[in-house]
Amino acid sequence: MKNEYDVVVIGAGPAGSITAKTAAEKGLSVLLIEKRQEIGDPVRCAEGVSKVWLRKHIEPDHRWICADVKGSRIFAPDGTMIEMAEEIAGGEVGYVLERKIFDRALAYEASKAGADVMVKTRATDLIIENNFIKGVKVSHLGQSYDIKAKIVIGADGVESKVGRWAGIDTAIKPADIETCAQYLMSGTGIDQNYCYFYLGNDVAPAGYVWIFPKGNDMANVGIGIMGNKSGNGKHAIDYLNDFVNDKYPDAKILEVDVGGVPVCGSIEKTIANGLMLVGDAARQSDPITGGGIINAMEAGKIAGEVAYNAISKGDVSANALNEYEIKWRETIGREIDNSLIVKDTFVKFTDKELNSLGHSLEGVNFSSMSLIELLYALFKANKKLLWDLRILF
Ligand code: FAD
Repeated sequence: MKNEYDVVVIGAGPAGSITAKTAAEKGLSVLLIEKRQEIGDPVRCAEGVSKVWLRKHIEPDHRWICADVKGSRIFAPDGTMIEMAEEIAGGEVGYVLERKIFDRALAYEASKAGADVMVKTRATDLIIENNFIKGVKVSHLGQSYDIKAKIVIGADGVESKVGRWAGIDTAIKPADIETCAQYLMSGTGIDQNYCYFYLGNDVAPAGYVWIFPKGNDMANVGIGIMGNKSGNGKHAIDYLNDFVNDKYPDAKILEVDVGGVPVCGSIEKTIANGLMLVGDAARQSDPITGGGIINAMEAGKIAGEVAYNAISKGDVSANALNEYEIKWRETIGREIDNSLIVKDTFVKFTDKELNSLGHSLEGVNFSSMSLIELLYALFKANKKLLWDLRILF
């Protein structure tokens, strides 16, 4: 086993694989490690992504696309339905992926670019010397190894430990995490051309239920509720059971997934001397939708490029890696901050207020509207309710 690389990436999700691919394409020696035996499995995701953003990173491939969606149908608590075209429905509507194959395809791209990949290899700690991260301690098939690196990338997802090991505060309060439960179901009978979202405090307190088509009459039926709303004997899975028993009593459950999504917005710091955090490890998922695949890939690309710049200049200090901090905050960071404002406004709404928002959108032509125009239309019709959103326009 090689024990020294330019870059070691911890975690082979979308963030890690794109970082590894980008850095390897630049000519750096890269190791991508993954604690699981199979990249992408088990899935903890509804698997929805925007087509346009995905294409920036990888050519769509029918092997990992389950559904090509035309738009969203959003239901207010009283059943009022709003239909939106895919282009404005947000970053999680477009393709529905098969992440078990997609994540592996991304890791393959990294390996093709020259990165070494090791599965069943868990990072157990960082090697730190004189306040600089100098590598990773790993456990692989019962043996422990030290692997040196000029830069370590923490791409270890929502349960990230790498940030904490490096002294970066990545702690999330229960109110800043959506706890999620999802079934892969057959027999829901939904129109496979649409993603469905159900709002309402009885259905999903401070969150929503989603139904994403997976082809062949299958669908991901899931729920995310705010962590501080889970308790008193009722958890995300209980709300999900209520929903499916009511709507799809005859549908069959083929898979169960549970997981958390950070919805806290940008954290203060994502770098240290010799280290960058990317994706869910850096809390870069969207606070309103909980979507994080595209942001993880975008951040991974920036991190791979910055790793190359820093190593080429022989300076991997936090000062040099600040280029990553600046670049991701100027791009996906802006979106994340705006989404946080929208989320903080929406989670306070009663069902009556959500219904009123739904009614104000009835008859609006969404096919020719951008998301910001849509928010503006909502704002104009509900100024008092949405006063906090005025700073977005
Ligand atoms: P991950 O995909 O979580 O990858 C991290 C990897 O690191 C994992 O493979 C893990 O095994 C590995 N790892 C962890 N610790 C170690 C270690 N110590 N050593 C080695 N490897 C390690 N996003 C969307 O865009 N669209 C959606 O529809 C969507 N739906 C979701 C539904 C649910 C129920 C949940 C929970 C999340 C959803 N998300 C969605 C969010 C999305 O799944 C994440 O934002 C995305 O996977 C983040 O990618 P990542 O690479 O940062 O982390």
